[in-house]
Parts: sequence; structure tokens; C-alpha cells
Amino acid sequence: MRKRIIAGNWKMYKTAEEAQSFAKEVVGKITASDKVEAIICSPALYLTNLIELTKGSPVKISAQTMHFEKEGAFTGEISPAMLASVGVEHVVLGHSERREYYNETDESVNQKVHAAFDFNITPIVCVGESLEERESGTTVAKVAEQVKVAFKGIDNEKAAKAVIAYEPIWAIGTGKTATAEDANEVCGEIRATVETLYGKEVAEAVRIQYGGSVKPDNIKELLSMEHIDGALVGGASLEAESFVKLIEAGANA
Ligand code: 13P
Repeated sequence: MRKRIIAGNWKMYKTAEEAQSFAKEVVGKITASDKVEAIICSPALYLTNLIELTKGSPVKISAQTMHFEKEGAFTGEISPAMLASVGVEHVVLGHSERREYYNETDESVNQKVHAAFDFNITPIVCVGESLEERESGTTVAKVAEQVKVAFKGIDNEKAAKAVIAYEPIWAIGTGKTATAEDANEVCGEIRATVETLYGKEVAEAVRIQYGGSVKPDNIKELLSMEHIDGALVGGASLEAESFVKLIEAGANA
């Protein structure tokens, strides 16, 4: 049985004070569960502080992106070595916003997946199609290709530990959620792609999240689907009460 993984992606929201009060509130409310992992994907600036504030609680703090080099002349960037040195255990890679605004490609995502594993950081690899691709019937081909390139050169042991987030671009921040059936179908195709690359055991182990307008009132149905092992949540993860509800749904669904 795969342990669910529910992550709140704050994107570029919250001041330091807001981040701290959120963390303090949720650590008091989220109890350890063997059914769900609770993750906050914080702006890099708050990672250290939030790791401190959530110490001893089941809440883990993830980065939203990183560079693929260990170090170097890359002004403004943050390396996997830096993340590991402050105790970060997860990183979101290849989010569609990073692909759209910061030129991330399947190839750079692949470099980052390697770099994350080199530093024992679990990558949450985002894939997903645009509205145009969905309408032209190329969704499965698109996400399969993204998965294939992202995992190039990654061995079975590492691949089994990875998390893949299926986030259809047209459902992000739009209030349009894929139906649970549609989301499950694509997540199933992603699992089939992993099976082609690595075999059944890895495909059964890898965790696949759905993301795109997930909220406390639709998460239960999404989590009831065979291939959906969690959620990557933007807007609805910004309020502590709503984040707690999402995690509780993961523990009880
Ligand atoms: P929303 O939940 O706001 O649609 O964002 C989804 C997302 O991009 C999470 O990474």
C-alpha cells in the first residue's frame, strides 16, 4: 500500500510572519498518520525557519525548485547541496510555472532529478498537458514523454522513491478540476509509463499526485481513485484550516 503524499505548494505567497503563524498552527493540528505524509512547499527564504518550527511534527518542508549544479556562479540560485545542508528532504521539479516562465525543459528537469537524488532529496516531478494538448488528444503522449525524459538515467531504486505530480496546466488556479476519472486515467497512464521503464515493482511503488484546483471538498473523491496517491495543492493550501482539512482527508479517505 502506497503512503499518500499531500503537499501544499505556496508558490510566491506569504510574508515571513504569515509563514510562521501558519506553521505553528498546523503543527498543533496535524497528527502523525501511517496513511499520509504532509508537506509544505515553501519559498526558499523560509525553509530553515519552517524546518525548525515543524521539528518533531509529521509536517515536512519542501523546496519549490532548485538548480542542478552542486555549486557555482549562478547568481540567485539555490543548489541541492544547500537544500540538503538545511535538512530539506523534498523538492518540486518541473512545475508548469517554472517551465513556462523560467525556461525549464524536460532535459533540465532530468538534470535536477539526478541532482536531487545525489543529495538524498526526494523529487516531486511535475508533468501535465496544456488545454490545447488535451483538446487535440495528445495528453497521454505528452505526459509519457515528460516522464521518460525526466527519469533518463535514474535507476530502479531511486525511481521507486520518486513522486510524480500530474498537474494539467488548464486546471491550475482556474477552479477547473479534471474529473476524478480523467485524472485517474492519466495517472494510470503515467504508472504504465513507469512500468515500461522500470517494471511492475517500481510502478507499484511510485507515488503519483494529482494537482489542479484541489480543495477540501473535492480531494476525497480524487483520493478514492486507484492511481491517485495524493495531491499537490496551490490556492487551497494557503489557509491553515484548509491545509489541515486536506491532510485529514488523506488520513481518513
Ligand atoms: P491550484 O491548486 O491553485 O490550482 O494550484 C495547483 C498547483 O499548481 C500546485 O502546484
